[in-house]
Amino acid sequence: MKLRKWLTYCGVFVVIFSLSALVYFSIAFKNGIDSIAAEWSEAQPNPLGDFGSTKTLSILPLVNWHTRDNSLQGEAGVSYLIKTDHNTLLFDVGFNKGGNSPSPLEHNMAQLGIEIESIDTIFLSHAHLDHRGGQQWVNKNTFSIGKEQIDLSDKKIYSPIPTEYPNAQVTVTPKATIIAEGMASLGAIPRQLAIGRIEEQALVINVEGKGNVIIVGCGHQTVPKILAHSAKVFNAPLYGLVGDLHYPLPEGRLSFFGINLQRRFASGDGPHKPITLATMERDLDLLTTQNLGAIALGGHDTSDQVIERFKLRFGDKYHHVRVGDWIDIVPPNQK
Ligand SMILES: [Zn+2]
Ligand SMILES: [Zn+2]
Repeated sequence: MKLRKWLTYCGVFVVIFSLSALVYFSIAFKNGIDSIAAEWSEAQPNPLGDFGSTKTLSILPLVNWHTRDNSLQGEAGVSYLIKTDHNTLLFDVGFNKGGNSPSPLEHNMAQLGIEIESIDTIFLSHAHLDHRGGQQWVNKNTFSIGKEQIDLSDKKIYSPIPTEYPNAQVTVTPKATIIAEGMASLGAIPRQLAIGRIEEQALVINVEGKGNVIIVGCGHQTVPKILAHSAKVFNAPLYGLVGDLHYPLPEGRLSFFGINLQRRFASGDGPHKPITLATMERDLDLLTTQNLGAIALGGHDTSDQVIERFKLRFGDKYHHVRVGDWIDIVPPNQK
């Protein structure tokens, strides 16, 4: 009898605790959405003006879901090597989900003959585990290319939020900022996700005679906000969009006990309202109105079905994102 009473008390406690947690979470989430909406409506981004240009632009996926062949390692993370006339930049540093040495990024760089010494700039899109080398580094407010942090003291490093790295300085770019000749950060655009608030920056490269190419890490900012913000900040027309947008539809690449993490927990409307096909179609239509000369979608957070949809819509303007395959916007030999 005593045991039954005790179990009843426990049951009531669990129900009350769960309901309180749900109410607390819902209020915090709603407050987050409201404060970002207010920030967005008040934001007056400063136009950057002329930030120079590059004649050539080539992008090599170093980490992503799809690979050119089996000698390269694919994973649900992001890293791109970006080469202009003036700079060689590493955009994000992959996931290294298994905590391996070499990490998929290090393995693929070695296979593709890319040496860390050739890179002068590191650009971090946002502080999620699949872009910073794993959760352990996010927890320590830093990032890593491999299992251990290597010397990056000779690199320029940019992050949308304060970030540490041993013996290196990380420049924080909450607002649109010129980072090199023909290269700028779009600045941090915030989004309230079910897993918390995130600030994400995209890289913008001005290609002479064509216009700006925007390179995106996860696309949490949303396509309408990326386009609206970039139109306010930059004079040059938009020529291309390369990288990863968040369309894990019908399912994403990461799941936990059968729950799709990318679709539910990275939804901007809460886990009860996962990302929908209607949102993807709205963005696709919006991108179509931009008359882009080049578009490429990475598979780390976009399903194969959505990639096919984009390919069909953009035809020969569409480039596949595969680790090991260069995406040449203007290759060096056409300089
Ligand atoms: Zn991601
Ligand atoms: Zn992310």
